[in-house]
Amino acid sequence: LFEEIGGMPPIEVFELNKLYADDPSPLKVSLGVGAYRTDEGKPWVLPVVKQAERQIVEDPSMNFEYLPVLGLEAFTNAAASMLLGGDSPAIKEKRFLAVQAISGTGALRIAADFLAQVVPNITRIAYISSPTWENHRLLCLKAGFNEVREYRYWDAQKRGLDLNGMLEDLRAAPERAVVIFHACAHNPTGVDPTQEQWRKIVEVVKERRLFPILDSAYQGFASGDLDADAWAVRYFAEQGMEFVCAQSFAKNFGIYNQRAGNLTLVANTANNLANLKSQLTILVRGNYSNPPAHGARIVSTVLNNPQLDAQWREHIKTMSGRLKAMRALLREKVEGLKTPGSWKHITEQIGMFCYTGLTPKQCQFLMEQHHIYLLKSGRINICGITTKNVDHVANAIHQAVTT
Ligand code: PLP
Repeated sequence: LFEEIGGMPPIEVFELNKLYADDPSPLKVSLGVGAYRTDEGKPWVLPVVKQAERQIVEDPSMNFEYLPVLGLEAFTNAAASMLLGGDSPAIKEKRFLAVQAISGTGALRIAADFLAQVVPNITRIAYISSPTWENHRLLCLKAGFNEVREYRYWDAQKRGLDLNGMLEDLRAAPERAVVIFHACAHNPTGVDPTQEQWRKIVEVVKERRLFPILDSAYQGFASGDLDADAWAVRYFAEQGMEFVCAQSFAKNFGIYNQRAGNLTLVANTANNLANLKSQLTILVRGNYSNPPAHGARIVSTVLNNPQLDAQWREHIKTMSGRLKAMRALLREKVEGLKTPGSWKHITEQIGMFCYTGLTPKQCQFLMEQHHIYLLKSGRINICGITTKNVDHVANAIHQAVTT
């Protein structure tokens, strides 16, 4: 039986990681995977995370008992509050549910499973931005959506948001279709709608009765401020929308492999929450039964302690500040070389990624000739740039564009 099964294509970012790891060149630069790096090009274990871990292991009441199916409540409540704001009416009126998940991906998958399999009258067509994080399509299809369609997002000409195209595509969507929006720091383009543009988007979502899944994987990375980065999510809530939002703590806590995530569901009334909760419980139970504890304990220890929380917010400023500084430096170097074209998008885009506008051929050239690893879409992880490698990267981009 097994002999009849064909293969699947490799996953590009993991493939890139391997190519990078296997490359013996001292010049090599990894601009592929979306993880934070210091100016030494190293992963950063946040000091506040280390401190929280010490507290956890030294706590005499700590044990390895199963968590409840929907996770650690001290974690999920703190996560929902960080997302919706401490004074959120949805929280005060107890019109929300929060479910611990296997990081952001797991939260998105619970959301997609729930919508495709449980919520009645949902049109099993999911809309994702063009382009988007490549896993959105896969997880929707695996959850049971019949079709995944794209809405226009990136205008390659002006290297910015194609708002009119986006609104036109959403207006043409069937009622009760599901739409995934990036809450902030859009991956891969680094371009978010402005508040004014979000207002127009939400109007169409209401008009067409679309169901939003918000994906918040980078809260804190867009502006350095957790509340500012949650503006769009809170606007959906303020507008009386029912929605779900997936949160990842991989990036803003730097705990990628701990798989700490949360799914928040906001409802119009508290009336049916017990039923919804029981449905989500059955979904999780039939999938992985209950979530792992360590990452959620770290996040919960920090968010529920004002001193640690303040320290963590400083770490977020450090990370987002380094991203901004590296954007400015890369742009300065490329412009300094008089590389043809406009490079102002490097600093106009936000968050971890820059959609460079380099063609697949130019990306290939960077990899083969200069040991610089990036996705063939031209997306680079800004954290991969350091004060030591920026000249090498800028020179390589210059050569890629001019040869
Ligand atoms: N959503 C977006 C847009 C992402 O970029 C990522 C990670 O790269 C995720 C969700 C999920 O990340 P994780 O499952 O590691 O939390």
